[in-house]
Amino acid sequence: MHMFDSLRKKLREGVEKLSGKAEEEVPKPSQKDGSADVWEPGARGPGPASGASREERAETERSGDEKPVAGGAGPERARPGGAAKEDEKGRLAKLREKVSTRELTGSDIDSFFEEGEMELLQSDVALEVTDALREKLKEKLAASKVRRGKASGFVREAFRESLLEIVDRGSIDLEGLVKEGRKAGKPPLILFLGYNGSGKTTTLAKLASWFRERGFTPVLAAGDTFRAASIEQLEVHGKRLGLRVIKHQYGSDSAAVIFDARKYAEKNRLDVVIADTAGRQHTDKNLMDELRKVVRVNQPELKVLVVDSLTGNDAVEQARRFHEAVGVDCVVMTKTDVNPRGGSILSVVHTIGKPVLFLGTGQEYMNIEMFSPERFVRELVG
Ligand code: GDP
Repeated sequence: MHMFDSLRKKLREGVEKLSGKAEEEVPKPSQKDGSADVWEPGARGPGPASGASREERAETERSGDEKPVAGGAGPERARPGGAAKEDEKGRLAKLREKVSTRELTGSDIDSFFEEGEMELLQSDVALEVTDALREKLKEKLAASKVRRGKASGFVREAFRESLLEIVDRGSIDLEGLVKEGRKAGKPPLILFLGYNGSGKTTTLAKLASWFRERGFTPVLAAGDTFRAASIEQLEVHGKRLGLRVIKHQYGSDSAAVIFDARKYAEKNRLDVVIADTAGRQHTDKNLMDELRKVVRVNQPELKVLVVDSLTGNDAVEQARRFHEAVGVDCVVMTKTDVNPRGGSILSVVHTIGKPVLFLGTGQEYMNIEMFSPERFVRELVG
C-alpha cells in the first residue's frame, strides 16, 4: 500500500480523462483526402458553425500558408492585390488554429467531478474541497486552447497548480523559531492540541527528538493533567530522549504546569518548551475552556493541532472546533503510513487555511516527514 493511493489513483484518472477529452478527434468519414491529422473543436462538429469544411481542413493541412483554401470562396478571394492576400492569410491562420486545438469546456470538467465525487469523498476529500478544485480547474482549463499532443501535460499542470493553491499555506520555520527565542532569552512554547488517541503524545515526542538531533534541548511539559497515565507516558518519552519533564499532580491546572515549564526553560537556558494538553472529545466544553486558559496564560509561539488522518470527515470537524476555540497555527496529520486515502490532508488544510507542519509516518521517533506541498502534489498527480 502506498500513502494516499486511492486519492492518487482518482486524481491521475482525472488528468487522463480530461486530457483524453482534449485530444478527442472527430471521426472522419474518409481518409482518402489526407485529413487523417485534422480534428475539430469540441462537439460542435463540422459545418458552417465550425468554420471549415472537411476539404478546407485537408487543404490547410497539406498546403501551408500560401495556398488558397478550396471551397472557401468569397468576394475577397477574387479581389486582386495585397489586401485580399492579407485577409486570406488571417483566415488561414485562424483555420489552422482551429484544426490544431480543442477547447475543454466547463461541462467536461463538471462531468469528471459528477462521476468522481463519490470516490473523492471516499478518499476523504470534503465536498468543499471538491468544489474548490473544480472551480480552479475551470478557471485554468475551460476555454483554453489545448495544442494537440500536449493536452496531458497541460491538464496535469492545471491539476498541480489547483491542488497547490489548496494545500500550500506557507511554512513554519521551526529552527528559526528556536534561534529567535535564544536571541531574545525566551524559549518558545510549542503547544500540542488534539483528540485523545490522535497521536498527540507520540508526535510531540517525535518533534522533541527532531530538535535533539539538531542540537537543541527541549523541555517537556505534562499539560495533560486529566487522562490517566498521560504523565507517565510523557515521562517514558522523557527518559528515552534524555529530556526533563515538568509535571504536577493529576487534576491540577494545566496552564500552571506549562507556565512552570517555560520558567524552568528560561532559568536553565533550554531551547524550547514542548507541551502536551488534555484531549477529551472536542465536543467537551470544559476542554475548550481549559485550552483557552492555557493559551491566554502562556501565549504559545506555536499551536500545533494533531489530527489522526484516519478519522476521515471528522478530521475536518475537529480542526474547525479547535481552530475556532484557540486558533491553530499548523497541523500534523498522523498515521499517514496506514492511510491509503489521503484526502483528509486537503480537507483539513482547506478548512482552517493553515499549513501542515509534518506528517506522522509510523510509531517510531524517526517517523516524521516534514511536509512539502510541492512534493505532496507531485506524488498525487505526477
Ligand atoms: P494521544 O492520546 O493523542 O496522545 O495518542 P498517542 O500518542 O498515545 O498515540 C495513539 C496511538 O497512535 C499509539 O499507539 C501511537 O503509537 C500511534 N501513532 C501515533 N502516530 C502514529 C503514526 O504516525 N503512525 C502510526 N502507524 N501510528 C501512530
